[in-house]
Amino acid sequence: MTGKHIVVIGAGYAGLSAAAGIGRGPDRVTLVAPEQRFAHRVRQHEIAAGRTVARPEIARVLRGRRVAHRATLAVGIDLDAREVRTEDGGRLAYDTLVYALGSRTAWGGVPGAAEHAYSAERAEELRRRLAGAPAPGTVAVVGGGPTGIELATELAEAYPAWQVRLVAAGRVGGWLSARGRAHVLAVLGRLGVRVDEEHRVTAVTADGLTCPDGDVPAQVVVWAASLEPHPLAAESGLAVNARGRALVDDHLRSLSHPDVYVIGDAAAVDLPGTGELRMACATAMPQGRYLAKLLTGRTGKPFSFRYVTQCLSLGRGEALVQLIHGDDSMRPRVLTGPAGRLVKAGIVKGLPLSLR
Ligand SMILES: Cc1cc2nc3c(=O)[nH]c(=O)nc-3n(C[C@H](O)[C@H](O)[C@H](O)COP(=O)(O)OP(=O)(O)OC[C@H]3O[C@@H](n4cnc5c(N)ncnc54)[C@H](O)[C@@H]3O)c2cc1C
Repeated sequence: MTGKHIVVIGAGYAGLSAAAGIGRGPDRVTLVAPEQRFAHRVRQHEIAAGRTVARPEIARVLRGRRVAHRATLAVGIDLDAREVRTEDGGRLAYDTLVYALGSRTAWGGVPGAAEHAYSAERAEELRRRLAGAPAPGTVAVVGGGPTGIELATELAEAYPAWQVRLVAAGRVGGWLSARGRAHVLAVLGRLGVRVDEEHRVTAVTADGLTCPDGDVPAQVVVWAASLEPHPLAAESGLAVNARGRALVDDHLRSLSHPDVYVIGDAAAVDLPGTGELRMACATAMPQGRYLAKLLTGRTGKPFSFRYVTQCLSLGRGEALVQLIHGDDSMRPRVLTGPAGRLVKAGIVKGLPLSLR
């Protein structure tokens, strides 16, 4: 035992894989996160569609590791006193803090969005709303990025009585290769999803979307336009960039507070040749694993990482595996059909197993 106390806040892909790995070493670790089961956030759209999603107990992931799980929220960080304040009234002194609070849906300041729209975080409520409706109408999903596409396809497949509309300020799947985008549009078409591209939303009301290019009447609105990091980093005084992601060095250590490491969606990790890594579980988990090695003395090298694929589920019957270069730029090649579906499902189901 070194007697060091490492506090990890957040038990997503980054935090839980970091805690499980650091817990193999000699230091005492406390994990602060409210949930008893791993959230497995990349499957939220499946919950909205009424699918059963297996979520391992956090205690099971941490079995045999020197980690105490405190099931509460972190509500404040005193960076000078090196203390985390928790919702249950506790104060946890740390020698090293691992900040892994992830991200959440960003409403983008659009009037009425937070009030009238569902987000992926409210997937269970969305499921109840859609499944229980005596007279289905239109559900408008806002956002042409990965979350919007996954939600729109999943909902269209699960609730065929609802008319699903996917509304995007830009092009749906516009970052994908030409083949990748064409496949996404083809599946959306097969599932009967009406796509409105270059269609900016300026407000959300109880009646649907207000748009300069034509309003979209909808009984249900789902907001999936973008993600923003948890605000506690900025509120506590950690150095953050304009988006609120914490600035870190090449060992994922806070630029302003060297006894704090930041990983996952919360961190602005800038790699030479790639730029700032996007918010993704594909980025969060390798960071959690790397940090565990760093803090247990199994590496001293800077964090390095290369992307391989970007995968989208398109309902249960289809998927897209977009092959990408290590710097996150698109290759022309994609996997679709049964091969794409099997690869995507294998990755998603395997994620909880690789947390340890
Ligand atoms: C519907 C959907 C589908 C997605 N699909 C993909 C995909 O296919 N591939 C991909 O790479 N990415 C995908 N993403 C993005 C991915 O989910 C995130 O990038 C990823 O979850 C980030 O991991 P993280 O560990 O940084 O944070 P998170 O997974 O967000 O975990 C944050 C953790 O912090 C905890 N927490 C929050 N507040 C507090 C607090 N105050 N105190 C203590 N704990 C707190 C949470 O409970 C959670 O344990 C998807 C996202 C959504 C919403």
